Amino acid sequence: MLDADFFRRWMTATAASVEREAERLTALDSPIGDADHGSNLHRGFTAVRSALEKEAPDTPGAVLVLAGRQLISTVGGASGPLYGTLLRRTGKALGDAAEVSDADLAAALRAGVDAVMTLGGAAPGDKTMIDALVPAVDALDRSFAAARTAAEEGALATTPLQARKGRASYLGERSIGHQDPGATSAALLVAALADTAEG
Ligand code: ADP
Ligand code: MG
Ligand code: MG
Repeated sequence: MLDADFFRRWMTATAASVEREAERLTALDSPIGDADHGSNLHRGFTAVRSALEKEAPDTPGAVLVLAGRQLISTVGGASGPLYGTLLRRTGKALGDAAEVSDADLAAALRAGVDAVMTLGGAAPGDKTMIDALVPAVDALDRSFAAARTAAEEGALATTPLQARKGRASYLGERSIGHQDPGATSAALLVAALADTAEG
């Protein structure tokens, strides 16, 4: 079973990974965006980390709802409301249980990803974070490791796609040939989850 501490460690591991990879995420956002994805998420997850330290929420749901709220309020770019919605909706789906199962988390994350698709209007193949998140939640029914691999493959598979949502879509065919920054950061979020589960 997964408790609040597990979810705090997941968010902390994501913050560390985003910090390590911030320059690369911003570099990916340079040719097909406005070169701020790494700094956006770094700011957001730094706020998540300090809010979790200050407020110490004591259920899995409360950890994710708090994290999502921080991302929405501190990240100006498109990714803030989208990742914020992902975590908030996932947290709400977990309810107020003190511990949740792997299957509860998989179902809740699916609800979170569905909420991101509703908010942003992106479907798989549109060259967004959805291209990493959907395969990851599909694979999470098997294992955390399978979810990590699926997210990484999903992020790599965005390179030949033409963007249909977000800033990169303004480039039309010129968005082809570049890996999507948001799909790349989504793979970091899923990898941090698998790392936390593998302890
Ligand atoms: P901005 O484009 O506002 O500068 P970021 O650079 O932080 O925001 O995030 C860009 C990423 O957000 C993209 O790489 C893409 O993965 C994701 N994204 C943008 N629009 C959407 C959308 N409508 N649905 C899902 N993901 C999106
Ligand atoms: Mg950007
Ligand atoms: Mg921006």
